[in-house]
Amino acid sequence: MNGHDNKKPPLNVVNVIIFIGLPVAALALVPLWGIYDGYDSFQWLWALAFLYLNGMSITGGYHRLWSHNAYEAHPLLKWFFALWGAGALQNSILVWASDHRRHHRHVDDEVLDPYSARRGLWFSHMGWMLRNYSGEPDFSNAKDLQRDPVVLFQHQHYVALTLLMNLGLPLLLGIWHGDIIGTVLLVGLLRLVVNHHVTFFINSLAHFWGSRPYTEANSARDNGFLALLTYGEGYHNYHHIFQKDYRNGIRWWQWDPTKWMIALCQRVGLARNLNRVPDFKIQRAILDTAFMRARYKLEQAHAQCKGTETLREMLEREYQLFTESINQWTILQAERYERTKVQLSDALEEQKQQLQQKWEHAALHTRLKTLEYSLKMQRKRLGLLMEQVHFHQAQMA
Ligand SMILES: [Zn+2]
Ligand SMILES: [Zn+2]
Repeated sequence: MNGHDNKKPPLNVVNVIIFIGLPVAALALVPLWGIYDGYDSFQWLWALAFLYLNGMSITGGYHRLWSHNAYEAHPLLKWFFALWGAGALQNSILVWASDHRRHHRHVDDEVLDPYSARRGLWFSHMGWMLRNYSGEPDFSNAKDLQRDPVVLFQHQHYVALTLLMNLGLPLLLGIWHGDIIGTVLLVGLLRLVVNHHVTFFINSLAHFWGSRPYTEANSARDNGFLALLTYGEGYHNYHHIFQKDYRNGIRWWQWDPTKWMIALCQRVGLARNLNRVPDFKIQRAILDTAFMRARYKLEQAHAQCKGTETLREMLEREYQLFTESINQWTILQAERYERTKVQLSDALEEQKQQLQQKWEHAALHTRLKTLEYSLKMQRKRLGLLMEQVHFHQAQMA
């Protein structure tokens, strides 16, 4: 179905002004005022502060909290995100999160994914907002958000809130500083346009450019450079397979200021029940993808030159081990679940029994860790196996 090819829907005039008019105005006016009057560090620093306040309210609030329920937030934090998120001028939480849930559910579908990467870089970046592609709003996938008073208030008073945050606050800052025009241009206009485009990169570039270590089932990519620009959202391949994880960059060294902010909020009591995908599941996804790639490469190698039987056998043996590890893990998870049930019903049991449970828990933990380790080692072996495939191909060529 290619309905969008036949007749384009009408332009969305308000969005054209916001997404075309404002960048053009910024490109013309910001340098002109710079030449005429110049800017000082007060203005630059406030622009940067606003950029992060808006950006992280989108990533930490609109995205990870409201779209994915990756953690629970204190009402104070919700109000903070609702206000500064309105300042990002990317529509209300309700509209944004509903669109985003559709994007995850139907990723890459040319009709159902509102910013499908299949329709090109421009469409997924901002083309999708310039025309009324999606018709009447449909919030049927956001019933939970319609019960959230913060979300509802922000949705109902969106225009007033966004004007206050985008124009009101920069004006006040300008009065404080003395140069009203320069401050409004930098903190109001330039900051807004920059924040728009870095957020849009996640829908566009992060679906085109980067690696796919966790899944090849969709176009989402991991890209450390994009993470730097997008407050940590560049690890988009991970995010599309494990969307409920409060982290996007799961390694401690991966640049994800949004996950650090959420973890900090937990420390001070503003966030709780942070979702973390167990390491084993992550390793499983990486290996699954690696096996798929390895099989494909071996098939290619086999078509080019015979004599890959031993390598294929080795691969299948590794896959057998992988399946066994997964089965063991599933059994361990079930055991652990049973244990917690026993602990709940026998909360007043003897100390002896508690000690026994502690011991069992520790033993279970060790077995889980061993399994995780075995998957890590298997990844290494798979890498070595692939080196052999390349070597074989090079020899035969
Ligand atoms: Zn995406
Ligand atoms: Zn998402």
